Amino acid sequence: MNQYLKKYIELQKQFHQTEGTPESVRALYAFKEELEGIEDRQAKEVLVDVYDLLDFKKSAYDLLSEIGDRSDRKTLKRLGVLKEYAGKWGNHYALPKPKTPEEKQKDQERRSQLGLPIFRYHPDPLETGAFEKSEEGVVCDCCGKTTRIYYQGPIFSEKDIDYLCPECIASGEAAENFDGEFQDTYSVDDGVYDPAKLDELIHRTPGYCGWQEAYWRAHCGDYCAYLGHVGVRELRALGVLKEVLDDPMWNDQQKDVIQASVNGGHIQCYLFQCLHCGKHLVWMDID
Ligand SMILES: [Zn+2]
Ligand SMILES: [Zn+2]
Repeated sequence: MNQYLKKYIELQKQFHQTEGTPESVRALYAFKEELEGIEDRQAKEVLVDVYDLLDFKKSAYDLLSEIGDRSDRKTLKRLGVLKEYAGKWGNHYALPKPKTPEEKQKDQERRSQLGLPIFRYHPDPLETGAFEKSEEGVVCDCCGKTTRIYYQGPIFSEKDIDYLCPECIASGEAAENFDGEFQDTYSVDDGVYDPAKLDELIHRTPGYCGWQEAYWRAHCGDYCAYLGHVGVRELRALGVLKEVLDDPMWNDQQKDVIQASVNGGHIQCYLFQCLHCGKHLVWMDID
């Protein structure tokens, strides 16, 4: 057995035995990055397994198509399975990498380099999928300017709106011009008494798409930051499952449902984090 395969088996075992703790996921990510820099064929073969385990289905398919031996029936079969997943999901459901404070800082710098406005309640709308990129650019229905980053999420308005630029959302102009809201006032947690906070959330914050109507969580007297779609695997990988289950919002039965959630599946969770105490909370719905 080659050294790469040996290390993979060790990491995979750790990942399964611990049900995917942050440490085990981080170790797999470090191994993935190491293998990506190695030109050795055996390393590439193992990299297919690492991609597959972390659910980078498209990367696994692409790499196996490049290096796999198509005269081998097992390889052909695996290519077929990966092709199916890759076609449906791409790399969209890859397990998230648990980030260190330094990596979070880097993300922040990357965002400010893009020149995006700061959204307190939705800090990374590109990562959550609320914003999309367009190489050629699209025209913002509000200001008429061409924008390469545009909003894809919900807006409750009588008007037909195709594209909005981040600036028109942040300034509140889009909400005002179209008499719209990005979040339904009634689908938010109680306990926030400052009307300016609700105003910022519904008029100047990009929303998110749920199976059903999106709901916004609150904690410590303020709305939380929305971090993205998750299932139980992602919650474990981020090390926050226990925290989100410790929430008076959910009864025992609902806690079981959260523990059966799958990102992109029938039971979907949406992750939030309190801006004050750092606690993670979820909202969930069933399609
Ligand atoms: Zn605009
Ligand atoms: Zn809090």
